[in-house]
Amino acid sequence: MANLLIIGAGGVGSVVAHKCAQAAKESGAFDKIVLASRTLARCRAIAGSVKERLGVDLEIAEVDADNVPQLCELIRRAKSDLVCNVALPYQDLHIMDACLECGANYLDTANYEPLDTAKFEYKWQWAYDDRFREAGLTALLGSGFDPGVTNVFAAWVVKHELDEVNVLDIIDCNAGNHGQAFATNFNPEINIREVTARGRYWEHGQWVETDPLSWSMDYDFPDGIGKKKCYLMYHEELESLALHLPGLVRARFWMTFSDSYINHLKVLGNVGMTRIDPVKFHGQEIVPIQFLAALLPDPASLGPLTKGRTCIGDRLEGLKDGSKKIFYIYNICDHEACYREVGSQAISYTTGVPAMIGAKMIAEGKWKKPGVWNMEQFDPDPFMHDLNIYGLPWKCVAVDEKN
Ligand code: NDP
Repeated sequence: MANLLIIGAGGVGSVVAHKCAQAAKESGAFDKIVLASRTLARCRAIAGSVKERLGVDLEIAEVDADNVPQLCELIRRAKSDLVCNVALPYQDLHIMDACLECGANYLDTANYEPLDTAKFEYKWQWAYDDRFREAGLTALLGSGFDPGVTNVFAAWVVKHELDEVNVLDIIDCNAGNHGQAFATNFNPEINIREVTARGRYWEHGQWVETDPLSWSMDYDFPDGIGKKKCYLMYHEELESLALHLPGLVRARFWMTFSDSYINHLKVLGNVGMTRIDPVKFHGQEIVPIQFLAALLPDPASLGPLTKGRTCIGDRLEGLKDGSKKIFYIYNICDHEACYREVGSQAISYTTGVPAMIGAKMIAEGKWKKPGVWNMEQFDPDPFMHDLNIYGLPWKCVAVDEKN
């Protein structure tokens, strides 16, 4: 149905490649799959694992995704009609430019960030809406778990359970343990930029700012995971959900961190190691966070080490037929089960599976509409159906108001 080009052969790219191969085999969603990245050896290793586990052949290619002519040459050569961008947020606009030039649909899992400012805003990508409409192409933004599934969860609850949502809390818990003193579960540079940014939430039609990691709450997670401390952070899906959810009064995002993670981050911040501006060192310029990222464990290497589960979901309060109702909708994912299936830990898995499903939605024409879209703007039902089929089963429960 679609010739797919996956760009980025990191932790997430590996899961996307495995799950797209599975979907190609089981549902015929994709005809040809090409995996391209900056380092060909990484593509080769992933293609080898896909062949061994699923018997599916992937083509591989080397590309610098910051180079639009190089991207165009690859898209044309591979005859790709859909590009799944799981490289880094810095590449988003270059890949969107190449898609427009070559007539390919586009999808990513993280919004564009300029290298020199840790800014999480959709404005740069939303500005492409007219061009994608005119070209008759679809661009789907943020098709990971959060953003991604968390947006679709909210859309599903609005479609099936509530007439309007007044209070939304997105709560991301990683109750897993990799045994390392300090490591990030996805790209270290992107992760640390996000976590050290100022907190921000939506209330009564405006954004309220908080100091980084200065607010926390305890949340009691289901299925034996139990109480964990969660920190308020800004997360990009709040921006689109604040715009698209009817009746929203307050929207916040929370994430769990261990005390050890917070302590390491504080010390690294205090000594300047999380700075994103260049500093002079022995006559040359280095960016401290990039140097730090080079020292930290590669998130893809955490697969065999990580045990435990993730639990990511939305708590939504709103009205149904005039009465107040509360729902909690969530997925629980087991790190070791992910590793057995595709050789990755659950953070890469929970991002890569929805990226594949988003691509499948476009390939099957279920979510195909010219323009630039966020996940909650499409019918949630086919996506929610595929989450159950492809490894991220979900539950929605009514919450007693006292909880
Ligand atoms: P990794 O660092 O593991 O992988 C990134 C890959 O992109 C690497 O293979 C890297 O190449 C490649 N790459 C980087 N720059 C270029 C370039 N200029 N041209 C070609 N390839 C390039 O990151 P993750 O897999 O952990 O994360 C991938 C994306 O997923 C990120 O954007 C991240 O923000 C997003 N994400 C989204 C989540 C969600 O729920 N929505 C959750 C987690 C992550 P090389 O191997 O040479 O370094």
